[in-house]
Amino acid sequence: MNKVNTAKMIDRQITQMENNKSDELELVSLKENHYFVSGFSNVGIVITDEGVVLIDTNTSKQFAQRIYDKIRDMTDLPIRYIIYTHGHWDHVHAVEVFIEKETQIIAHKNVIDRFYKYQHLNEYTYSLNNTQFQGKLEITSYDFIRPDIVFSDNYQFSLGGKTFHIIHGKGETDDHCFVHIPEDEVVYSGDFFVSSFPNIGNPLKVNRFEKEWYETLEKILALRPVVLSPGHGRPIFGEDNIAEAIQPVIEVLQFIHKEVFRCLNEGLSLEEALEDITLPDHLDNHPYLQQIYGCLEFAIKGTYRRYTGWYDGNPTNLRTANTEDFAKEMFYLIKDPEILIKRCHTLMDEENYQMVLHLTDILIIADDNNQAKELKQIALQKCRDKSTNFIIRNIYHESIQHL
Ligand SMILES: [Zn+2]
Repeated sequence: MNKVNTAKMIDRQITQMENNKSDELELVSLKENHYFVSGFSNVGIVITDEGVVLIDTNTSKQFAQRIYDKIRDMTDLPIRYIIYTHGHWDHVHAVEVFIEKETQIIAHKNVIDRFYKYQHLNEYTYSLNNTQFQGKLEITSYDFIRPDIVFSDNYQFSLGGKTFHIIHGKGETDDHCFVHIPEDEVVYSGDFFVSSFPNIGNPLKVNRFEKEWYETLEKILALRPVVLSPGHGRPIFGEDNIAEAIQPVIEVLQFIHKEVFRCLNEGLSLEEALEDITLPDHLDNHPYLQQIYGCLEFAIKGTYRRYTGWYDGNPTNLRTANTEDFAKEMFYLIKDPEILIKRCHTLMDEENYQMVLHLTDILIIADDNNQAKELKQIALQKCRDKSTNFIIRNIYHESIQHL
């Protein structure tokens, strides 16, 4: 599947979620008594002789209800445990649909901190995710249901002859875990594996953990599972296929870590690092590293930011002038807005839309110039349309609506 098609697939999943149209509920048998339901995020279902264990819950409550009904078609046994692989909305939002009298929710202890943050930054979180997911989420409150059992490094329980080994690692979040059922050689990886370039350095979200991420993937590989059920994307069967899928993600995270450290030690600015770091061909074109959600640019920016302060090394930027004051100063020097407008038209013809954005900003901020606003709008549309990255396109899209 090419990048444009895959990006459109994410769009489609979001739209299905919005309309609750997920007619295609597909229960995939991973192994005897292990099932997988594909959605915007995936749900794992393990049926034991003593009850059911769920790994994540999906986001749509209506879709979750249909998953619950499917479970009830298969068994009358109670849902005993729900494991949050992490506290992101798409994995925990629909949990209430599955909760029964005996159900206990298990999660890493940092999920509590995350839910505190969401609860107290409800409007802010709502606005961020509105941008990232095209305003199509059905979530109105980020006050999610807390876990009953929390753990630090590992948590283990047995049910119906199966051992559930829950192992913490940092990666896309600091509250992440994966689930290993050794008797069946199955791993539910959460978002340690998402079937595309790891979502690290997201422009709207807090720092992520490239080093701990690949270290955790190495732990998963060492367990030699025969089934891998990921947080997003399709399950993978067979030890060799799983290794072939995970190894490039380990390599790309190691590469980013090593390269950003090299750039920092060589005194390169972020701008210089972005120009300096290019992916080796075998990682650039790998089917499991399509840059449709996470991407190299985000990963470099995020990892660089993780290890540095906000000062970029140019003393001009230590205590910057007010943006409006600076724009007015430039406008005063240019005097005639037509000079900039004319130049913007040339830049448009040259498809240098980013430079159009920089120049039109001067006129919009200093002069509230309508022609510049129109040009900026067109430049943003061009930036959106030429990107195959879901997050980039959605940020441009949202900004166009608000211009
Ligand atoms: Zn996810």
